[in-house]
Amino acid sequence: MENDTPIFRDAAIVWIRNDMRIGDNAALTAASRHTAVVPAFIRESGSPARPLGAARNWWLHHSLSRLSEKLEGLGAPLVLMSGDPSVIIPGLARKIGASAVYWNRRYDPSCQTTDAALKTRLQDNGITAESFPGQLLHEPTRLRTGAGTHYKVYSPFWRAIEPGIETRPPLPAPQSLKGLASAVELMSETLDDWQLRPVDPDWSGGMAGAWTPGEDGARDRLADFLENRMQGYAERRDIPGVDATSGLSPHLANGEITPSQIIEALNGTGTDAATTDRSKFRKEIGWREFAWHLLANEPHLPEKNHSAKFDAFPWIADERVLKAWQKGLTGYPIVDAGMRELWQTGWMHNRVRMVTASFLTKHLMTDWREGEAWFWDTLVDADPASNAASWQWVAGSGADASPYFRIFNPVLQGEKFDPEGAYVREFVPELAEMPAKYIHKPWQAPQSVLEAAGVRLGQTYPNPIVDHQGARQRALAAYQTIKDVA
Ligand code: FAD
Repeated sequence: MENDTPIFRDAAIVWIRNDMRIGDNAALTAASRHTAVVPAFIRESGSPARPLGAARNWWLHHSLSRLSEKLEGLGAPLVLMSGDPSVIIPGLARKIGASAVYWNRRYDPSCQTTDAALKTRLQDNGITAESFPGQLLHEPTRLRTGAGTHYKVYSPFWRAIEPGIETRPPLPAPQSLKGLASAVELMSETLDDWQLRPVDPDWSGGMAGAWTPGEDGARDRLADFLENRMQGYAERRDIPGVDATSGLSPHLANGEITPSQIIEALNGTGTDAATTDRSKFRKEIGWREFAWHLLANEPHLPEKNHSAKFDAFPWIADERVLKAWQKGLTGYPIVDAGMRELWQTGWMHNRVRMVTASFLTKHLMTDWREGEAWFWDTLVDADPASNAASWQWVAGSGADASPYFRIFNPVLQGEKFDPEGAYVREFVPELAEMPAKYIHKPWQAPQSVLEAAGVRLGQTYPNPIVDHQGARQRALAAYQTIKDVA
């Protein structure tokens, strides 16, 4: 490699990581000023970063495919390579004679060492190495409270960053790029060879039906949300049976759209939604920022309790109940509908994420890390920060968390947020004929009602895996054992 003759002068490499877009892509914009651009995506081996789960790998395949088409259309085809970026990128730079390497920052602490080491290595070789913001509205490691610490409570955090979130307007997509087609032909691997999609069995049909991965899919979803679905967001966002949230989370998780692009569109004229709806939506985007602020400052958030007293919590390891929860067979319809929505579509409504997570950690007293790992594998929006922070929030061990003693009643949650049972009917078809009065508590229905609905409890649909009151008392008693731990 050391003696390779460069095939081009003053080329720039864009190291694409979690940014599957050409719009608002500062690294790509910087590279476009060079005489040639080589965008490269590396399937990293030996990386300390957590490997993507199955659902995100499915998404990644399609996202890379779309990005590759776009870049090729602009004139700079994408190079796919596998290995250690700290070896691959300098090697590629030598081969093509790159004078600069650009990337957009990823804030996952497990990637920081890789990125910092690469930067040093490139600079030592006289190659410009520069990183840019974009994935977030703020720089999560720099923000500090008056006391010099990171924020652990959402409201003051949001007050601190909200005034500045419009200061970095999104960048336009480059209209054309000068690429190195020969570089791709010589070096690129083939996406199909990476086998990111499931085969034997191919369980991705439900996800393919629900989503359009890629930058265009993200843009269309945002436009549709702002124009047609955002009105009433502040109230309707809690109702899982209606399509009232943006569904942008997998596009954000895969970097197909940036929060700056979303905020700019929100501030534009594309929606008639009321100020309360806009403000609520901004705040939700703010929760994503908060989760990243926590992770950037607490690298062990996905594994370690934020609140150390939970280290002594008497979790119960029971494979049988964990499996029932994962498969949506707990006998609590709202929980089962959520877990099946997740399995079928790779996504679950936020209200139901809270209910299912509460059920696992409180009713079943299963360690939140089990739930976090299952979501990590099955969510198309699995995000190291939001997933870990949200699980800890629900479990009670997290920053600014919901108190452990606040235990969702799955029947009341169902009756409040899915009063006619539309959501349950969609995802738990064996209960589709149940009248609304009993759809969230079929075990209380008279035999004649069950028979008329074609439900045989214990056969076509399970009996409740735990009794709500008993499980609640057990969880509260367990919490008492750690309540006073310092
Ligand atoms: P919208 O209501 O349209 O909100 C717009 C955007 O704001 C979302 O796309 C998301 O980026 C952000 N957002 C909204 N709510 C939250 C929140 N509570 N926390 C952080 N960001 C939020 N979100 C993920 O993106 N990835 C995850 O892995 C993830 N795991 C979760 C696990 C649990 C146990 C819980 C309770 C929540 C989790 N969330 C996660 C947060 C939230 O459920 C999803 O972001 C939201 O449901 C995505 O749907 P949407 O895009 O339609 O949201």
